[in-house]
Amino acid sequence: MWYDEYLDRIDTALADEDKKLALRRAASTFLLKKRDALGSLPYLDYYRKRLREVKAWSIDHIDELIKTFKENFEALGGIVHIVSTKEELANVLRKVIGSGKLVIKSKSMTSEELEVNKQLEEMGNTVVETDLGERIVQLMGCRPSHVVVPAIHLTKEKVADLFSKVTGERVPPDPKAIVGVARRMLRDLYMKADVGISGANAIAAETGSILVLENEGNARFVTNAPPVHVVIAGIEKLVPTLEDAMLIAQVLPPYATGQRMATYLSIISGPSSTADIELTSVRGAHGPMEIHVVLVDNGRRRMLRDSRFKQALYCIRCGSCLNNCPIYQLLGDEFGYRYFGGIGTIWTAFTEGLKVAAPLAYACTLCGRCKLECPLELDIPEMVKSLRDLLIKEGYIPPPLSFAERSIIEKGNPMGI
Ligand code: SF4
Repeated sequence: MWYDEYLDRIDTALADEDKKLALRRAASTFLLKKRDALGSLPYLDYYRKRLREVKAWSIDHIDELIKTFKENFEALGGIVHIVSTKEELANVLRKVIGSGKLVIKSKSMTSEELEVNKQLEEMGNTVVETDLGERIVQLMGCRPSHVVVPAIHLTKEKVADLFSKVTGERVPPDPKAIVGVARRMLRDLYMKADVGISGANAIAAETGSILVLENEGNARFVTNAPPVHVVIAGIEKLVPTLEDAMLIAQVLPPYATGQRMATYLSIISGPSSTADIELTSVRGAHGPMEIHVVLVDNGRRRMLRDSRFKQALYCIRCGSCLNNCPIYQLLGDEFGYRYFGGIGTIWTAFTEGLKVAAPLAYACTLCGRCKLECPLELDIPEMVKSLRDLLIKEGYIPPPLSFAERSIIEKGNPMGI
């Protein structure tokens, strides 16, 4: 069943010429930009190797880092919640946000993983994505299809049609015009919102600091304008120091978008406050009065305990592996679930379960391009092979492979002749 369903989805994806065109356009731009950026950053090799060491150490000392971060962030006036499952996250959101609120969000893969929008809407809140790509897929009613560029599968013509329908005015298929419309639509909401939700690119335990990288400037509004800011992040985002977090700021942009540095880099260490009047500290000067950080497990500790998959937790979600993956280039979001490509397959197995990950593990060709593109040199093909071993033990074997196996045993050849 799982196998046939996936074949149907593949057929649909392969017939979608628009999607293939959009993916091709994006991939060639990404590859050229990345090549230029890597060539212009002579110390990048050092940073990425050091980053791998930092991530490896951090994952091995995760409990210590969680404890240190909680103590330090709460001493600054923030609140830290630690949750294991989607249901536990829902309880925190119900307590902190409640219902009837306007919630604005900046891009966060962890909140995609945990279906935060759906949860908040079911509680009676209005949720508005502010990252342009996320807003497009939200209005379109589809899922993001790339960790860095959520609307990568849509052509400018499709997006222009969508915005024309939403605004009731003719929006031309011109990225500049589309961005102008999005800017107009979102501007007021930043000041009206009750709560801002963001993810984190890294969390520094020693100083209790959240690091958020972005280009659009929307995350600045989301994390700053509403009175309450909620950060939803996986426990793997923790590193010991701000200096370690900065390694991510240096490595991620060239590999993700071919930039030497992201346009905006926000470091948030507790709620806004002022002591300008008689040195009396008052919360919420211009930024949020309350900041909550929700640290999420949702399968990460199981990944951590399994030496075959532990390194998947080092991933910084730059998406570089996707941009040169032959299967992702053909299937886009169908080579993934909430996370994409080979690395996404491993994450899917631990966050969604083996059944969801099974067709993805067999869609992978094990060609190894992802490993070559990864700044942390994660051995994704080896992890996918280990996942296949697990899948076979659990009975998730594609029918053609079962047939070939039986034929070899019974007739000495895989064709059953
Ligand atoms: S596996 Fe490597 S290349 Fe792929 S998103 Fe993660 S860090 Fe980037």
